[in-house]
Amino acid sequence: MIALGTPVQQLKGVGPRNGEALARRGVHTVEDLLYHLPFRYEDRLHPKPLSELVAGETASIIAEVRGSALLYTRRQPIFELTVGHGLQSLTASWFGGVYLKDRFKLGDMVALYGRAEPSRSQGGRFKMIQPQFEVLPAASGDSDPLERLLEVGRIVPVYESLGGTTQSGARLTSRWARRLLWQVLEALAQGPPIPEVLPSAMLQRLGLPGRLQALRETHFPPEGTPMQELQEFRTAAQQRLVFEELFYLELGLELKRKRLRERDGTAFQTGELVRDALKQVLPFRPTAAQKRVLREIVDDMRKPTPMRRLLQGDVGSGKTIVALQAALIAIENGSQAVLMAPTEILATQHYLSAKKLLAKGARRYQVTLLTGALDDASKRSARARILRGEAELIIGTQALIQEKVDFANLGLVIVDEQHRFGVRQRFTLMKKPGGNEPDVLVMTATPIPRTLAMTIYGDLDVSVIDELPPGRTPVVTRRVGQQKASEVWEFVRKQVQRGRQAYVVYPLVEGPSEDQPQLDFAAEAAPIDTKSAAKKSAAKKGARRGAAAKQAALAGMDARAPLRSAVEMYDDLRHGAFADLRVGLLHGRMAADEKEATMGRFQRGEIDILIATTVIEVGVDVPNATVMVIEHAERFGLAQMHQLRGRVGRGAAKSYCVLMTGERVSEEAEQRLDAMVRSQNGFELAELDLQQRGPGEFFGTRQAGMPDLRVASLLRDRRMLEIAKAEAQDLAAGRLHDMTDAEREMVRTQLKEQWQRRYGLVEA
Ligand code: ADP
Ligand code: MG
Repeated sequence: MIALGTPVQQLKGVGPRNGEALARRGVHTVEDLLYHLPFRYEDRLHPKPLSELVAGETASIIAEVRGSALLYTRRQPIFELTVGHGLQSLTASWFGGVYLKDRFKLGDMVALYGRAEPSRSQGGRFKMIQPQFEVLPAASGDSDPLERLLEVGRIVPVYESLGGTTQSGARLTSRWARRLLWQVLEALAQGPPIPEVLPSAMLQRLGLPGRLQALRETHFPPEGTPMQELQEFRTAAQQRLVFEELFYLELGLELKRKRLRERDGTAFQTGELVRDALKQVLPFRPTAAQKRVLREIVDDMRKPTPMRRLLQGDVGSGKTIVALQAALIAIENGSQAVLMAPTEILATQHYLSAKKLLAKGARRYQVTLLTGALDDASKRSARARILRGEAELIIGTQALIQEKVDFANLGLVIVDEQHRFGVRQRFTLMKKPGGNEPDVLVMTATPIPRTLAMTIYGDLDVSVIDELPPGRTPVVTRRVGQQKASEVWEFVRKQVQRGRQAYVVYPLVEGPSEDQPQLDFAAEAAPIDTKSAAKKSAAKKGARRGAAAKQAALAGMDARAPLRSAVEMYDDLRHGAFADLRVGLLHGRMAADEKEATMGRFQRGEIDILIATTVIEVGVDVPNATVMVIEHAERFGLAQMHQLRGRVGRGAAKSYCVLMTGERVSEEAEQRLDAMVRSQNGFELAELDLQQRGPGEFFGTRQAGMPDLRVASLLRDRRMLEIAKAEAQDLAAGRLHDMTDAEREMVRTQLKEQWQRRYGLVEA
């Protein structure tokens, strides 16, 4: 007798050794196993005839083994298999495939899955390189009847390997998983019904099947299920499982939000005096979008419950002034406001511009800077001013959290460039015990598609600045090969002669090195589908491969053409192409005061050309800079390039972004570069970035509060996400009247279980 909670080791055919392998993949119980879903399906009842293959298409075929050979080339042995049916044939080859030598017998039926490439050899019109394969059991005779039932003449599920090995040395293959899952599902069908976790009226309303049926039909689709729907995970059975997961995710977020609304915040007043104070500091006419988001923020701030709002706006859309206005409201109400930035450079820049802006205000505002770079005495005095309430606007870096700053009366916390910080829950540390909950406004230029924002920041309200300040012209973006460097430098020089300034950005500080922490390369070999991307990044979580490791791998890969680095090129350009111009260097390894001094000189126009790394990626605002040159652009992620480009085009003058590429550009990098040239739209670029990297990489996995989903894909299942959210809202608000008490209890239990086990970190 088995139940959902039965440990997998106790299943026939698993045992302790495989049990350990499964445990490493997070599969401990029968329930875990059931939610290890197929990632694709093969229709072995209607296999595609070889004659219908199209060049370049990825397809699964079934054919008979007609011959094989192990070829020894100079580099490595290649195993070649010729298969066919009728007059058609196809060659499959595996590099280093010595281990395959005895796997196939003449006359075996095999299923192959791979890309059909045109072939010029005699082995048929097409070849497949490194296809996935399975030898099928013979249709009759002495083969295992269960295998015959599961492997041929039906739609067959294909699973990601569960790792480990069986006694006979084979891996825990798809075939192994199929057999095990089939047996488990059979056994469950015999026993008492497995507990349902969704209210029955809800299932009915949405037209979704019950839990066991959904699991059965997802693993073993009934005959006649449309293949297209299956592959896209759109059958009712699959959608039910997707919904189940998203519903509990959204419900948890919804309740979190509700709890927050019950806490005490500050109800700020915005009378005429406050409005006058705001007007006095405004240096320009706000755009309609800026006005709208400010109104949304003000509405929140006036409420007695704490604000939790995400302000999204593309680079250069003007978030800073909105933030400063919010800060002024708090200050005019006698509260302190904090503005936190991810880098020293940015914090300092905010500090300088806030001081300048507020100097025009109705009275003198006390602005204090607190960063890790200050000496101890200055830190001490800053802390004292903050504690005594003399400091009204406090601008700083993470030092604000690390140095355990106590506030006299903190009313508003603003976090700039949120995506650059780690777990956002830490910001609540700033709350004073017993005091009111401060309002929190987080700002980001990462243009997260709305439905995703809803989930990643599910407990935040979202405001969007979807309009750039007037007078901006699009940044002219060009792509050139590195061999044209001298032309590029000539172009930069012309701009400088017209009084403009330029950035030249490199992926490295100095030579290939292990610890260059600010690098955030694009994943070079992005996975095909985002579901597995999410899984991959989840698997990597333990050994969270930092950017450094990635970079080392990349550097090793490209040993023939070493990457240029900021320090080397600074020397090179300063003495070469730009010998007569004022050249500066800025990177993350410089001391904080050096960085500050250089940035200051660039801001004041005392430096013409700033050679930098991605330290300038976020927030830096020098409107006179009109040229951004990115070397080794193929190495940068899309979001990062877009951010870098956002450093220019901030004034009225025409601006340029030059993407210089090295010799080898992968297909994915081509797509990124194309997209950059084609589009200036942050949302559009973010979509592609998300597709290439998957949500895990995109958001930095759990770091950003990203839930670990095992069924749903935030990209693929956006529609279901909306539905799940609506249902969760209704339930949380007590609007679902068609539920029994037992169902309410069941939902509560399931929610607790799912959140504790799966999203441990998200719930702070
Ligand atoms: P981001 O949203 O990237 O943080 P910033 O707040 O740094 O953008 O603003 C970008 C530039 O646009 C700044 O130089 C800022 O002074 C200017 N700016 C912002 N709002 C307006 C506006 N309404 N009209 C004119 N210039 C503006
Ligand atoms: Mg900014």
